[in-house]
Amino acid sequence: MRDISIIGGGLIGLCAALVMQHPGRRVTLVEAADLERQQSGGLNARSIALSASSVQIFRALGLWSQIAAQAAPIRRIHVSARGRWGVTRLEAKDYDLDALGYVIENNALSRILLTAVETSDNIQLEDQAEFESVAQTRKVEIGYRKNKRIKKIETAIALVADGARSPTRSALDIEHHSVDYGQAVVISNVAVSQPKTDTAYERFTAQGPLAMLPLGGRLYACVWTLNLQPAATICALDDAEFSAQLQDCFGYRLGLIEDVGQRFSLPLQRTRAESLQQRRCLLIGNAANALHPVAGQSFNLGLRDIACLYELLAARELTKLDNESIAEIAREYEILRLREQRQVIRYGDGLVTLFSNELPLFNQARAAGLGLLDLLPALKTQAVFTGMGMTFGGNRLLRGHL
Ligand SMILES: Cc1cc2nc3c(=O)[nH]c(=O)nc-3n(C[C@H](O)[C@H](O)[C@H](O)COP(=O)(O)OP(=O)(O)OC[C@H]3O[C@@H](n4cnc5c(N)ncnc54)[C@H](O)[C@@H]3O)c2cc1C
Repeated sequence: MRDISIIGGGLIGLCAALVMQHPGRRVTLVEAADLERQQSGGLNARSIALSASSVQIFRALGLWSQIAAQAAPIRRIHVSARGRWGVTRLEAKDYDLDALGYVIENNALSRILLTAVETSDNIQLEDQAEFESVAQTRKVEIGYRKNKRIKKIETAIALVADGARSPTRSALDIEHHSVDYGQAVVISNVAVSQPKTDTAYERFTAQGPLAMLPLGGRLYACVWTLNLQPAATICALDDAEFSAQLQDCFGYRLGLIEDVGQRFSLPLQRTRAESLQQRRCLLIGNAANALHPVAGQSFNLGLRDIACLYELLAARELTKLDNESIAEIAREYEILRLREQRQVIRYGDGLVTLFSNELPLFNQARAAGLGLLDLLPALKTQAVFTGMGMTFGGNRLLRGHL
């Protein structure tokens, strides 16, 4: 009998295993993919922006120095609107912070997490193992397929971390709702001629925001929101045509766009599970709530799901808890997380609707909004701290302690 089993070993599942394990607590991680097979980095790598709350959690895990060595800090965010006068600058030093966030390649982060999982005595990693079934009585029984054979594990609590399309959530009959914004994001890494140290750019255009996140050196990650048809067209362009279109939209703040990586496009959607728990099974990460990438918040939000559970489960002997005690923990988890999720969704939706509406009135308000943001320190502070995940109160992990 395991204490905690986690279904899904993406970034959130790996982090959950590391946070939940301690001597005397047995944790199993079940992942469909072969985690040793990493993709190539550099110009074609995918990356993720880490907020201050995530940094604190990695500090608590003792992993931050390894992660920081491979991450690019964002110390300045330059916000502008194409063809408008409004400009806002967010500076880490104005908030007494070392950085507003950090950008790291997904593969680099996942390698660090995987090594920590593999070297832990308390985590049993089952990769190339596909979830098949879940049944709950006074424990959870999880069935998975590995090497063409069905295996079963029994566990006191299951954490469901198998992503936005979560097969486990479906097996538990938990409904989910998706909101489609009718747009897409085109993602690509680019190399520029005049990189600006530690500076990220957010440029609002008639179709939506275009973000350029520093990856270190000449490399930037471009996340470009467009209407569906233009996104498909832009994704299909060759390197030279894509560079020219991006240059035209972004301008010359980083000099010339000299090289571009592969492009891919994702629909701008968010998906939310109707419930975050069912008896002994708790949803975390994208299985619970997958935000659109424009908000750049899903991973950070998922880490705070884990921080919340860490606090609720601390010092409990999980295999000894009866159904009622676990149901109580599960309900508390849901209440706490729904409160924060609503706040983050409002923040992310606000970004999408404020900056993608075509009405002339909105255009004026948008320009005024950017200018006003610069003039109103309290509003700007709220924007910074919501984006960094620091407006949600502190638990031990968010203060950097296990
Ligand atoms: C383009 C883009 C940019 C982003 N940028 C940011 C950002 O800047 N900041 C941020 O906070 N977030 C960002 N996100 C979101 C972030 O990438 C995700 O929230 C994060 O990866 C966590 O996902 P997860 O582990 O919950 O789910 P996933 O990454 O989807 O992982 C789910 C795992 O479950 C496994 N699985 C699925 N089915 C089964 C099964 N049947 N059996 C066993 N295992 C299974 C999968 O193989 C996978 O490993 C971005 C997302 C995108 C798409």
